[in-house]
Amino acid sequence: MSNRQETLIQKQFEELANIYSGLVLCEDVPGLWTIRGMLSFSATFQDETITEVFSVLIALPRDYPDSPPTVQETGGRIPADFHQYHDRTLCLGAPVEVSRRFKADPCLVTFVETLVVEYLYGYIYFEKFGEMPFGELSHGAKGIREYYQGLFKTDNVQIVLSLLKVMADGTYRGNQACPCGSGKILRKCHGPSMLDLVQQQPKERFLSDATNILYSMEKGEFEHFDWKLLPKALKRELDEMARERAKREKCA
Ligand SMILES: [Zn+2]
Repeated sequence: MSNRQETLIQKQFEELANIYSGLVLCEDVPGLWTIRGMLSFSATFQDETITEVFSVLIALPRDYPDSPPTVQETGGRIPADFHQYHDRTLCLGAPVEVSRRFKADPCLVTFVETLVVEYLYGYIYFEKFGEMPFGELSHGAKGIREYYQGLFKTDNVQIVLSLLKVMADGTYRGNQACPCGSGKILRKCHGPSMLDLVQQQPKERFLSDATNILYSMEKGEFEHFDWKLLPKALKRELDEMARERAKREKCA
């Protein structure tokens, strides 16, 4: 835990508390910071203003601000099946998208004003009107898959995975053939849509996203599926699992 990080967190929290006065900053364990309390906001989307108060717990990761905080709603108002992870942290969007938006302006005020308030606004709106204000946001693996399908403008999961392979393997070259099969070079095809992410995020992020997408696939989608188009590390892991299984079957 560096002093610089502590100073940054305290400064960012002061700015946050100026706007959201019901929040307090605590250092629960040395180096682990949380912000808790009542978050009151008023937000308007397409003429619908929602003014609300939620009890929240915002946890800053050890590597803050390299990674975004996680958020829990602690008042028991939002049911577990509404866009949350198993640990009850709120699914503010596909992780890669949350991380991309946070990196664009890595501070607490922007994080709360955009991602957190959008989520809470969305929940109240959903309760009132039975639909999401900004279109349905899926969560978990399905959300990750939809995010990349939107980014690459394709519904073809094989193409999504083959583009992710370039990102996860760290083999991006602008003049290589685009894996989507268009016949164009990457720079003139899907390259521009992946460059920002490639520059901002570690390769492991894309490997984990590809893994999630693979596990979100339905049986029918594996027909004509080309396993060679998976990220190398994921392919190795699957091969290893297959070998283990074969070994076990032999013994039995
Ligand atoms: Zn392409």
